[in-house]
Amino acid sequence: MNHLLAYRRYRLPLRVAVRTAHGVLAERTGVLVRLEDESGAVGWGEAAVLPWFGTETADEVAAACAVLGERVMAEQLAAVPARLRCLRFALQAATSARASASQKHLPVAALLPAGLPALKKIAPLAEAGFRTFKWKVGVGDAADELALLDDVCAALPPGAKLRLDANGAWQRLQAEHWLESCANRPVEFIEQPIAADARGAEDLLCGLANDYPTPLALDESLASEGDVERWLEVGWPGVFVVKPSLLGDVTGALARLAAEKAKVVFSSALETTVGARAALRLAFQWPGEARALGFGVWPLFADARFDGPALAPFLRVEDVEKINVEAAWNALS
Ligand code: MG
Repeated sequence: MNHLLAYRRYRLPLRVAVRTAHGVLAERTGVLVRLEDESGAVGWGEAAVLPWFGTETADEVAAACAVLGERVMAEQLAAVPARLRCLRFALQAATSARASASQKHLPVAALLPAGLPALKKIAPLAEAGFRTFKWKVGVGDAADELALLDDVCAALPPGAKLRLDANGAWQRLQAEHWLESCANRPVEFIEQPIAADARGAEDLLCGLANDYPTPLALDESLASEGDVERWLEVGWPGVFVVKPSLLGDVTGALARLAAEKAKVVFSSALETTVGARAALRLAFQWPGEARALGFGVWPLFADARFDGPALAPFLRVEDVEKINVEAAWNALS
């Protein structure tokens, strides 16, 4: 089947700069694609590149689209190389038919700021209905942050769960101290306690996961094509944080995770509406146990036309289907 391919680059300032483990992100760059098939059906996709996460750059996506040209055969779409994994996700999203959802609604995790400011945020978020909270750790001094854990847990509403995300900031000893302290607390998991590229990271993460009762989650460790398969092969007992936008052949990876009954958390890569709808559709189609979404990121952009559904304790499948991806495309013309 022939497709007509069009693409538009974007460079969008964020409302408020986002602090990440890799520095401050003040604007988001990427590429939107539009594919029209011979029957006139149109689909959109987004290459939400994050080069510091190991993806290709927006320049590389645009160059690859230019090489594909305006008329593209299905085989050419399938032959886009694995290293262009954001583009592969975009093309997959733009050509896949909408599948039926397994879930009607999914809870959303609320993000807490690092350090002491987290404490003041919990009560209003709990009041709004949130029951899963994600607290960034590994930002300040590890001992100071650990001393706050008790207060953060005490501030949670009954039945709530806390996710900790260290973004790879700890050494083994710090990770062990945290895991000891988390043992009898309502901690759902600790995300990426050890850096993905630390020496012996795989053995270290597996050792920690097996030695302590609190589950661990992989995020940065799933940064290139084949990582999901590798961690499935070593029998990773913890959670897989899946950022669909960064996973390349996401359909293949999710099928493998589902077959292994893996624990999966779907998470944002700070996409516009276009990538967000595709990523959220996959989250709603996930056949395994439903976990709170890591999509509490909007409003994100200075131009609200690119924002997904506003932060709320739950997202409904209708909220996802209401996302107007064409408006984002048109806004770039
Ligand atoms: Mg993370």
